[in-house]
Amino acid sequence: MDQAAAKSISMGANGLEALISVLEADGYDVWGARERDGALVLGPIASIDDLPRGRIEQAEGGSVRLVEGPRDAFFDHTLPMQSAKRLVYPAEERLFVTGEDLLIEETPVETRPIAVIGVRPCDLAAMETLTTVFESGPFRDTRFRQRREALLLIAVNCMRPASTCFCASMNTGPRAEAGFDLALDELLEDGRHLFVVSAGSARGQEILDRLDGEAASKEDLQAARDGSRACAEAQTRRMAEGAEQLLKRSYDHPHWAEVAERCLSCTNCTMVCPTCFCGTVEDRSSLDGSEAERWRRWDSCFTLDFSYLHGGSVRKETASRYRQWITHKLAHWHDQFGSSGCVGCGRCIGWCPVGIDLTAEVAALAANDSSSGQQGEERR
Ligand code: SF4
Ligand code: SF4
Repeated sequence: MDQAAAKSISMGANGLEALISVLEADGYDVWGARERDGALVLGPIASIDDLPRGRIEQAEGGSVRLVEGPRDAFFDHTLPMQSAKRLVYPAEERLFVTGEDLLIEETPVETRPIAVIGVRPCDLAAMETLTTVFESGPFRDTRFRQRREALLLIAVNCMRPASTCFCASMNTGPRAEAGFDLALDELLEDGRHLFVVSAGSARGQEILDRLDGEAASKEDLQAARDGSRACAEAQTRRMAEGAEQLLKRSYDHPHWAEVAERCLSCTNCTMVCPTCFCGTVEDRSSLDGSEAERWRRWDSCFTLDFSYLHGGSVRKETASRYRQWITHKLAHWHDQFGSSGCVGCGRCIGWCPVGIDLTAEVAALAANDSSSGQQGEERR
């Protein structure tokens, strides 16, 4: 969509409920971040009452908790534990079933339209990354495509970061430039509470045209941009520059053994990551042998079985599994897909039970770069 030609509107905070009504009238299930057990999860919402209004995350390495925030904002929090990845690439799905006749009956993809409200810029970037992963090679994942086409993404530009965020240093946020159908800026100032709404696609424009609002003023548009800039400046974490080349020459770095002292190989970091895409397939048969099914489910490079080839696993040690994960994510992903595999969402920091922080690990590698030698260039 031509962003220059697109018009933004301002609507009062109650316009959010009207937006949900328009989406429901169009047949969408509406999803968003909602509070559960003191954390944010992604799930269906029936009204704005389901949104975690006034709540923010207190996030640090190994801990994410929702607490009362300083403002009555709908979106001062940042990220639910799960990204929209699960809506385009489910954690587990049956691919086909077959019987004694061995005829394969493919399991159809359920493509009920879903509108997700509150997708953050880093997660939009992750969706673009997943699109490249699933669709850029010779074998395109048609199941991903069917689900992606059923998804409407309503972004919210971030006005405050969690302490685990580092999207500014990955150039993926905190302001969405593309990849959304609608984008919201929530402004609370001078006793006003409003949303600036912008369309990023024809589908989004068609929805925007049915919302009550007035053309956004220059002042409100500027306030929205200023809010994003302040959010970027408030980020305390950042990814060190040159991480790609640093990791490619750090294959034999002694720091991997130090990380392995802490890493539990629990897979949490890969399960919450919005770009990790590794999966495996399993065949399951009924006890009487009359029916068999093939399932696909998420897998993780942190498990021993992940690198099993005949005779054993290639990556037996935790040190080699952590090195594999972070080196693929920040270095070899560039070779494979043309970008970093990390969008700076910080989920893996907050949801790691022992608080391992990839920005800190890269900084530790960089601090000891000269002593590590140049061995291992391009080795995997
Ligand atoms: S590696 Fe961590 S910070 Fe980067 S995208 Fe994945 S979960 Fe987010
Ligand atoms: S880095 Fe943390 S979350 Fe990831 S496998 Fe190790 S302990 Fe688990």
